[in-house]
Amino acid sequence: MTSTQNPPHAARYPAGALAFPHRDLIGIGQLERHEILFLLDEAEQWVTLNRQATKRENVLSGLTVINAFFENSTRTLLSFEIAGKRLGADVVNMHAAQSSVKKGETLIDTAITLNAMRADAIVIRHGSSGATQLIADKVDCPVLNAGDGQHEHPTQALLDALALRHALRARGEAGDDFTGMVIVICGDILHSRVARSNLLCLQALGARVRLCAPPALMPAGIEAMSAEVYHDFDAALDGADVAMMLRLQTERMSGQFIPSAREYHHLYGLTKTRLERAAPDALVMHPGPMNRGVEIDSDVADMIDRSIITRQVEMGVAIRMAALDVLTRRARGVEGWGDAA
Ligand code: ASP
Repeated sequence: MTSTQNPPHAARYPAGALAFPHRDLIGIGQLERHEILFLLDEAEQWVTLNRQATKRENVLSGLTVINAFFENSTRTLLSFEIAGKRLGADVVNMHAAQSSVKKGETLIDTAITLNAMRADAIVIRHGSSGATQLIADKVDCPVLNAGDGQHEHPTQALLDALALRHALRARGEAGDDFTGMVIVICGDILHSRVARSNLLCLQALGARVRLCAPPALMPAGIEAMSAEVYHDFDAALDGADVAMMLRLQTERMSGQFIPSAREYHHLYGLTKTRLERAAPDALVMHPGPMNRGVEIDSDVADMIDRSIITRQVEMGVAIRMAALDVLTRRARGVEGWGDAA
């Protein structure tokens, strides 16, 4: 298995063009449908590798990946770290709490510093929308957005699509794109970069997306993104194929957005009874971290035949391996990916 082999579904990508021409992965908004499919297809080899006893393919050997996280993270940071290590890279984690950012350094100076260390890829998580692009504009290597403010979290949307594809294939359904599927994203849409990236990704793959939130937690003008907007969760769930639940992002809220967690659960919590409104085999997703008993009940989160929450985590490592591999191909001089930088 090598990452330079032809992708399994090469016929789906435009002939004679690079399957993925971007230097950075900032948002799903920058990607064409075939580029999304390319990353999903590339990730399949890493799903296979990650299920083996020895999980190592040294395609990034000698390269340095810096994970610069200016915001707290558990699964995304770990997932990127594991991804880089399984590809043989030297992975360094920079936590903002211990960095010069706390001493007043500007983001641009931090970017210039990281660049001077000659990183081969930089993974950024930051509390401000647009911070990742700002850094990408200042450095010479690929930049991967691991979540910037309320803007985008592209690898989350890609891993969600991959998890969904696997769940559909396990049921014997095509699973290649999501045309005809109805997917409900319910929760704090206003503050969620996951909702935004998923809306773009799922729509690009053919799904109809229903966004559901209390009025105060629904961004104004979101209809312009062709989303179907609901404030009544029962109505949103009607016949849906997937319920993707989001937590209340209290750390981003200034002021009171909901009366209480109890009231929120009553109206917007996914319970077993409520799930019955969806299609009989509807799948349940959550990007984590979950607040059990608030946006989702434990007996729904743990439903073996319906919840694919742990599969999402599994797919996260594979997607991040694919993104790191693909984005560093040019610098590694991989044939067909342009001259080494
Ligand atoms: N982990 C996701 C994010 O970083 C979702 C969340 O935090 O609720 O946006």
